[in-house]
Formats: sequence, C-alpha cells, structure tokens
Amino acid sequence: MSAQAKFATCLCFFFLWMLGCQDHADRFGQSNPMPQIGNNSVYSNLFNQVSGVGSDPAVSRFLTTYHEKEKPKYTYVIFTDEPSGATARETEQKLKEQPPFSLFELTFVIEIVPAAKLGCHRDAEIERLLLVDTNFVTRRTAELGADQGMAICKTSFGGSGGNIPVASTEGGDVWKTLLHELLHTLGFGDEYPYSKSEAERFCTSRTPRANIAYIEPTNPYASDQAARTSHQSAILWYGQILDQTLITHGTQLGTSTPARNVLGLFPAKTCKEINIHTWKPGVAESVMEDTDNDLDAAYQTLVFELLIDKGVPLKNVPGEEVNNPVINNGPRPSGAGVPIGTVSTPGATVTR
Ligand SMILES: [Zn+2]
Repeated sequence: MSAQAKFATCLCFFFLWMLGCQDHADRFGQSNPMPQIGNNSVYSNLFNQVSGVGSDPAVSRFLTTYHEKEKPKYTYVIFTDEPSGATARETEQKLKEQPPFSLFELTFVIEIVPAAKLGCHRDAEIERLLLVDTNFVTRRTAELGADQGMAICKTSFGGSGGNIPVASTEGGDVWKTLLHELLHTLGFGDEYPYSKSEAERFCTSRTPRANIAYIEPTNPYASDQAARTSHQSAILWYGQILDQTLITHGTQLGTSTPARNVLGLFPAKTCKEINIHTWKPGVAESVMEDTDNDLDAAYQTLVFELLIDKGVPLKNVPGEEVNNPVINNGPRPSGAGVPIGTVSTPGATVTR
C-alpha cells in the first residue's frame, strides 16, 4: 500500500465523540459489588500470556477491580453498505482474535444497509475524512440494543474515529483501520505527526488522551520523583507505569528503557510541527501511529483497562470464580482513570 493510501486510510474524527461520551464516565470508585478475580487467575494468566507484560501489577490491579457487569454481553454493530458484507465479517473475525478484545465477552452484529441509509460521505474540507449518517447509526444501534455502532463504507479510502468508528472497504487492512478508529472512540489519540494546520487545529487545547500526554519538560529534574510529582496528573496512564520504570533519564524527562513492552513516558510526534511536546506510553510505533503496526503488549494493557472502564464483561473461563461478589471501595490508582470522554471539549479533532 502506498504511503498516500495509508495516509488516506487512517483518519479519525473526534468531534462527535466529544459530544457523545458523557455516558461512559469512569466507573471506578463506585461502591458496586463486583466479582473478585484473583491475581493468579486464569484471566491474569491469559492476559499476561497474550500481552507479554508478565507479572505487571497494573494488570493484576485491574483484574482485581473488575466490576460486576451490568449486561451479560457487549455488542458491537458493524453497519456496511457493501452488499456482500464480506469485509465486515472479516473485520469482525480479526477484532475478535485481537487481544485484549479476545478476552472480553463481545457480540458482533453485522447489518447490511442500503448506501442511502448509511450515508457514507466525505467531509467538505478534508476529503479523506469519511463520515456516515450518525443519526441513522445511533438510532439503529439503540434499536438493536447494541452498545457501539461502527461502519464500513464501500468506498476507496478514508475513515474516521469519534462516536462511530468508520473505515472504507479499500486501502489496506480494513480491520486495522477500524481498530485504530475504535481506539479513538475509547479515548486514544494519534501518534503520527499532524500537519501544521492539523496541529494548530487539534493540539492547542492540549486535551490529554489515553495515550497522549501534553507535557512541556522543565529540565533538569532534581530526581525522577520530582518529575513524577510534577507531571503524573497529566499522564492518564500514570497508574500503569511501574515504580521501577523511570520517567526520566539523567535529569531529562522521558523513559530511556528500550524494552518494547514497558509502559513509560516516551516522546510522541503528534504536535511537533508547532513545537508542542507530546508523550506516549510505549517506545514502539503503535497502531495509533501507523495502521501497519500491531497493537503491542503495552497498548493491549491500556485498551484492557479502558474496556473494563466501559463495563465490557470479561469472558467466562471454565473453573474461574468470576461471580464472587465483594465490596471494593478502594480508590483508583493515582493518575489512572481520568474519565475518558469527559475531558473538556476542544474543537473538532480530525485525524487520520
Ligand atoms: Zn487516527
């Protein structure tokens, strides 16, 4: 796939997401009875296995704070105007196999609809921004009793994130594009460098994302602890950075650990065109930088937390005690769980 095609494939639109995510506020901190899952449970073993994060206490912590599900399943609907529905089915299969989604009790519904109903169209100003009739998708998703609508448009290129992840049937791995857009819906931001005009439009609000922190370094730092104290509130994944993982190297801000699956604080490129510093959780290029990349272990951990936050139920594993209600009123880990989707609303964010 050409660079241009990749560029065009991956494109996201946060504006609608910003308007509509208030109902997905953070559920941690509520005093609901919830199933307790042991630190050495099948879930944590399974998750550690797939994620490669080993005995990361952050994973165990989220496993042990798993909330009682409000619904037995969580349903995604993929709307498509491709008459065969083939791309949507392939996308469903790939998403189901992708950790951490593979750990959750997900139901997919594929609904083939007339093109006129789905209303795939391009943004008037930015051609690669592929949009749908949000009223139709929202209404129909509710009618189906589903939780999240997505769309695959039978067209040549483009996509968008936001309330409704959208991908086109052509232009590369459709499921990867939809994954990228779905991560936007979950609160992720882009990690590729915005153009100057995009950066001016989307960076200046400095709205933190699940994977993007806006921090202007104040080097030198007296100690790693000093940097942590100064910046932890700006890092939404701070609660998942291990104590032994430094967020400084020498007196400078930024984790130096080269290990691929370490969650830390690494320079991101998003807003560099206008000299605004952004930081990301992993050292490797992620699917939020280029849809050719995989969702690696570090990002699987972040997505896992966000799905738990949304109340998406974990799969039942035979022999696992998942229905053992306990009261856990403990606070969330420091720095983690800033309500995704309830951050202050910036202007429309268009990304690819
Ligand atoms: Zn994007």
